[in-house]
Amino acid sequence: MLIMGPPGCGKGTQAERLSGRLGITVVSTGEVFRDHVKNRTPLGREVIVHLDAGDLVPDNLTNRVVRERLDQDDVRGGFGFILDGYPRNTAQLAELDVILAANGQALDAALQLSVDDAELVSRLLRRATMTGRSDDTEDVIRHRLELYHQETEPVAAACSQRGILLSVDGTGSEDEIFGRLLAALRASFPDAIPDATTAT
Ligand code: AMP
Repeated sequence: MLIMGPPGCGKGTQAERLSGRLGITVVSTGEVFRDHVKNRTPLGREVIVHLDAGDLVPDNLTNRVVRERLDQDDVRGGFGFILDGYPRNTAQLAELDVILAANGQALDAALQLSVDDAELVSRLLRRATMTGRSDDTEDVIRHRLELYHQETEPVAAACSQRGILLSVDGTGSEDEIFGRLLAALRASFPDAIPDATTAT
């Protein structure tokens, strides 16, 4: 499955919680890129300008990273995985279809968290004071939001047409949002989603 939503919607946090509950791996392209930047790898040196500007990393680099990651055993076998932050545009969605088909897999669900722009900007500015992420300045935040509307919402529309979009209100506490995500998943996959006995 994939999880998408505008920057600051909390998809990284929710992806980790779903991973814990469902026992499946999260593949976060943003995390992969930030690790490369931190470790000063050649890829990191190539992508840092895009991350700092809040731009999308070019598709050829992003698709390569995803193709290599999805070839590893923890996501090839087992129950499935959660893609966090990919695909970000319709060209990446088309590439994902090719990668999954080659691995004998298919996309089952696309989770979308919706939060309005004003709320996101204030959340992200708060996050900036805590994490020091270089792409959490106001101009860059607004640019990332614009890109989300232009580039990534069409991915949600395509998933909706396929009948796999599960859109959830992304406002409220982390627990409330997590509860909504689990409920939406359970409604579509009654046997695959374990009942909540403990809050993780
Ligand atoms: P995220 O942590 O998902 O907000 O991603 C942080 C940054 O990594 C983005 O602003 C982009 O610069 C880059 N990035 C992450 N995922 C992608 C993607 N699928 N395509 C292009 N760039 C991406």
